[in-house]
Amino acid sequence: MPRSRRDRERLEEQDSYSFDPFESSASSAPNGVQLNPDGTPCRACSSVQDVKARLGDAFGVGNSSVRNDCAPDVNQIGNAGWTILHTMAAYYPDKPSPEKKAAVLNFYDSFSKLYPCSHCAEDLRQDLKEFKVRNESRASLSIWTCEMHNRVNEKLGKETYKCDLDWLDQRWRDGWKDGSCDL
Ligand code: FAD
Repeated sequence: MPRSRRDRERLEEQDSYSFDPFESSASSAPNGVQLNPDGTPCRACSSVQDVKARLGDAFGVGNSSVRNDCAPDVNQIGNAGWTILHTMAAYYPDKPSPEKKAAVLNFYDSFSKLYPCSHCAEDLRQDLKEFKVRNESRASLSIWTCEMHNRVNEKLGKETYKCDLDWLDQRWRDGWKDGSCDL
């Protein structure tokens, strides 16, 4: 029996899908798939495609391709995550108030503790220690975000991009200059 209210709350927090951001809770099965504490595949830290390739239907993931409203995997969360991070930077003020500057620091601090892919969040917290958030202006935050994204791209063996403000503005705020994204 848990002794105190705090003990009970702590046990309630430790449900099978939650994780303590300071302790990576997802473990790896011998086939390399990241698992939740209850032994099911960790969606938020794996790609559904990868899980299917490694486990097939063993965990009941076989039907997710016939629907378009399945819970997101690591790639969908990542895509949505980068969209908010880059657009937030693209719309950040050129001369931010002290409140806005503090808000960005607080946002990244919380984001790195709450990001649902636990191993991604762990790496992000490490990166944030080494590469401090550059919140002085729209340009500095946009370029810093691009560099953070490139670090993840490199880690995953993906293409990296030149962190040029003109390109970033076209990609994340204004649309391409050739008009192909015009409304
Ligand atoms: P994404 O990488 O999601 O990129 C989306 C679009 O952003 C691209 O199509 C491109 O147009 C644009 N883009 C790409 N690079 C840049 C850049 N440098 N600057 C500006 N725009 C750019 N996944 C893991 O498997 N392991 C991890 O450890 C991991 N860590 C992550 C950490 C964070 C903070 C976030 C937000 C995501 C992380 N992800 C991680 C997810 C991963 O980065 C990708 O989002 C995921 O692999 C899907 O990739 P994608 O090819 O769809 O393109």
